Amino acid sequence: MSNLAPTHETEPARSEPTSGPVFEALPGRSTDLLGLPIRRLLPRSQRRLVGPWCFLDSYGPLTFAGGKPMDVGPHPHTGLQTVSWLLDGEVVHHDSLGLVGPARPGVLNLMTAGRGIAHAEETPAANRGRLRGLQLWVALPEASREVAPSFEQHETLPVVDLEGGRATILLGQLDGVRSPARAFGPLVGADVIAETGRRLILPLDPSFEHALVPMGGDCRLDGHPLDVDTLYYLGSRRRELVLESGRKPARLMLLGGAPFGETILMWWNFVARTTEEIVAAREDWQAGRRFGEVGAYDGPRIEAPRFVARPVPRP
Ligand code: MN
Repeated sequence: MSNLAPTHETEPARSEPTSGPVFEALPGRSTDLLGLPIRRLLPRSQRRLVGPWCFLDSYGPLTFAGGKPMDVGPHPHTGLQTVSWLLDGEVVHHDSLGLVGPARPGVLNLMTAGRGIAHAEETPAANRGRLRGLQLWVALPEASREVAPSFEQHETLPVVDLEGGRATILLGQLDGVRSPARAFGPLVGADVIAETGRRLILPLDPSFEHALVPMGGDCRLDGHPLDVDTLYYLGSRRRELVLESGRKPARLMLLGGAPFGETILMWWNFVARTTEEIVAAREDWQAGRRFGEVGAYDGPRIEAPRFVARPVPRP
């Protein structure tokens, strides 16, 4: 997806991990894309990074008859990976490498933008008339942010069976089980199911900072009831989470990673380090350089929004 509500200016983001466990609730900020409800969970002014995770939109649920509720024309990315995860419905990805990624629930679409790629995402003609999903971005570390762009699709992901539930590992590793998806640093992204009326113990890497985002059902963490589409930042130095589900099974996204030791700048669909890099990426997109063409998408590309470059405070 494209960042639909970029600011004209940009703010630096650096990891500010706590020195231990915390419990911070950040309800998603609601926006709307032509009738598709979206909640922005990252970045937020209070919390911009969880490990290298720098962006999270939750969209839907939506029921529709006809039309294309997901129809994001060609747009560029640089310096990040996009992680597309559907809970319901279908989305097809087309990119400037000429690759096609038809996705459905359980299929991971992972795009590594590296130095630059363009893609489009849309609801395919053959669909079940429902849509619900997550769009996440991972900031690439300095050593890898200029890698060649690539796209991979994973139909089979490892599942960790736990007492009281299970976790599907999208990216990185949990409990010694690693996703085959290409990762560039220590992190975890996992889709967790807590069975009805059970106690689920989720093992964590204590060197990571973590966040949980409930996607459905009801459950409690340390006695706190959790709300859907809220980012719960949990801090670091936790060895496990104890979740108690209620009358319905709960489904949650677990995000974590080693504190990202670099200050990043995010603007529109770019992750960079300096204002000059953002200006150059914007100019390259507007001039038709660097990012390539998305030939398979039938429609106009998305023009870059206005950008006001201003001095960025140095850390
Ligand atoms: Mn995108």
